[in-house]
Amino acid sequence: MTEILRMTIGGECRPGVATFSSLDPYLGKAWVDVPEAAESDVDGAVAAARQALTSPAWGGATGPERAALLHLVADVLDANADELALLETRDNGKVIRETTAQIRSCGGWYRYFAGLSDKINGTLPDTGRKNYLGYVVSEPVGVVGAILPWNSPILLLTFKLAPALAAGCCVVAKPSEHAPASILRFAELLLEAGLPPGVFNVVSGSGSAVGEWLVAHPGVDKVAFTGSTTVGRQVAAKAGERLIPSSLELGGKSANIVFADADIEAAVNGIIAGIFAASGQTCVAGSRALIARELYDDVLARVVARASTIRMGDPKSWTTDVGPICFPGHLTRIDSMVRKAVRDGAAVVAGGEREAADSQFYPATVLTDVAMTSMMWHEEVFGPVLAVMPFDTEGEAITLANDSKYGLAAGVWTNDLRRAVRVSAALQVGTVWVNSYRTLTFAMPFEGRGQSGFGQENGIEAVGQFLRRKSVWIETEGSSRDPFVVG
Ligand code: NAD
Repeated sequence: MTEILRMTIGGECRPGVATFSSLDPYLGKAWVDVPEAAESDVDGAVAAARQALTSPAWGGATGPERAALLHLVADVLDANADELALLETRDNGKVIRETTAQIRSCGGWYRYFAGLSDKINGTLPDTGRKNYLGYVVSEPVGVVGAILPWNSPILLLTFKLAPALAAGCCVVAKPSEHAPASILRFAELLLEAGLPPGVFNVVSGSGSAVGEWLVAHPGVDKVAFTGSTTVGRQVAAKAGERLIPSSLELGGKSANIVFADADIEAAVNGIIAGIFAASGQTCVAGSRALIARELYDDVLARVVARASTIRMGDPKSWTTDVGPICFPGHLTRIDSMVRKAVRDGAAVVAGGEREAADSQFYPATVLTDVAMTSMMWHEEVFGPVLAVMPFDTEGEAITLANDSKYGLAAGVWTNDLRRAVRVSAALQVGTVWVNSYRTLTFAMPFEGRGQSGFGQENGIEAVGQFLRRKSVWIETEGSSRDPFVVG
């Protein structure tokens, strides 16, 4: 396994102008030096991507040839998943069970989109005119700047890279400064395996320098961003200034709704999976549990009991359930949000206290009586903190769930099929899980509503996010026309 990280720019793997340290949150110390890109590295990466767009090896590749390269990416992932998973676990503290399963699944994304890369067909619309043949072709958007968060680096990169490559785009990725290792290594492995130079480039460094240079770069045609709503808004504004499209996968405050007819054991398991897996550091975290009043005491007691059995520890151990919080500043933020919730009237029924001042772990925390006007009800914690609230009617449950500026996901626990369909339709979110939570596949679209962002990832149409249409009109009869009238 490598512990020397290099950026991939065109056909070269190289260091930066300086290095910065990435923290192993479990050991609480720096574990690897990461290259810091200079603005010239971003220029170089974008130039390499632009060159690849027209190179015979990539720009000139047919759909089936691109498909073969996507299969190559999948094979590289399969062969190196365990190494990449360990890099992620060391970098962001997520348990090895989760990082391994996630990265082993990513090959499926590239194979799925490989199957679409040779089906990017044009159309031949009826122009409504006898003397005109019209056809429409789809062209790649061009160079995509992909900006990633730290919580699931390879998976969230894959959501963008697989459809972008299927469409024929080239990508310059900027991983999070908190967990850059797996993406840097992945790019190096792809270059070694024969992905043409410039197709996939990675530059590392801070968001305020490297991220901003990438978004502002005149050679970037589209920005695909996953991260916080605050930064997403800035990125979209910058992209808007340049009049280039952006897609944004942002934060959430998702509700897990348990109706009185639900299978209680399954619902409790779903609540635990929704908020305590990965220590709540997932965009789809089910951070608000809405429970039918007749089940409220029972479900709350079971959630609290199950939360107390969660095994926190070394994320590299296969028996650990949750690892540490990714970095100290984030832990402080989680803790201060819980303190504020308590000042706003919430009651702590589980967790709520850091184990020790120097611990990087935050315990599974359950809050009741969270005021609907409070920050805890409305703002994303991105940590293991659950707000529990009772409801009396289906209408009230829907109103509570929709009482959010976000709209990423929701869970519905019921054995009543009609209710499942009714409630799913009424929820203003991009994903609804019925009797399940936090399941994922390349085939199901993933996109937010409201301040959770816009722009579909996953599903067949995701390729369309990286394509644009060109209409070609051909006059077939040589007939003359009035030059002063549009026709
Ligand atoms: P973040 O917004 O702090 O950072 C995301 C990325 O943006 C990083 O690479 C960062 O360096 C970069 N960045 C920061 N400032 C920038 C700027 N001015 N210009 C360009 N780039 C800049 O987010 P994070 O803390 O890394 O991740 C956690 C957030 O991501 C949470 O809000 C979570 O909900 C969200 N998230 C969303 C999804 C989704 O699919 N909806 C998935 C995972 C995480």
